[in-house]
Amino acid sequence: MSIPRFWREIRQRYKGIGTECGVCNRVYFPPREVCPDCGRDSLGDMKEREISGKGKVLTFTEVHEPMPDFEILSPYIMAIVEMDEGVRMTGQLVGVEFDEVKNGMEVEAVLRKLGEESPSGIIYYGYKFRPCR
Ligand SMILES: [Zn+2]
Repeated sequence: MSIPRFWREIRQRYKGIGTECGVCNRVYFPPREVCPDCGRDSLGDMKEREISGKGKVLTFTEVHEPMPDFEILSPYIMAIVEMDEGVRMTGQLVGVEFDEVKNGMEVEAVLRKLGEESPSGIIYYGYKFRPCR
């Protein structure tokens, strides 16, 4: 991956910028350069679109198998969230107990540090979701 593309993707992820297809107005996050529905009609017609970060839980599940670096977090809740823009995102649900989660619950995306790669010091960020208060 080229350096400029790397930084552009970091910026898009950090600010929650996706793209919107100028033909069908579908929103994609992470951003896409071509709309899968419109194909070449959408080439050059994809616009940057900021994602509000707010959405509703579509479905959720409790995960008991820990990921290698996250054993202390097991069990945790994974949810598929439909954002207000119509994009679906998968992420960990935090700040709520499993038996309190309901389909349709309003949540917001929060940027969290997911890990750190030493010794280069690269830090990975990603989205988690928490209930809207
Ligand atoms: Zn489209």
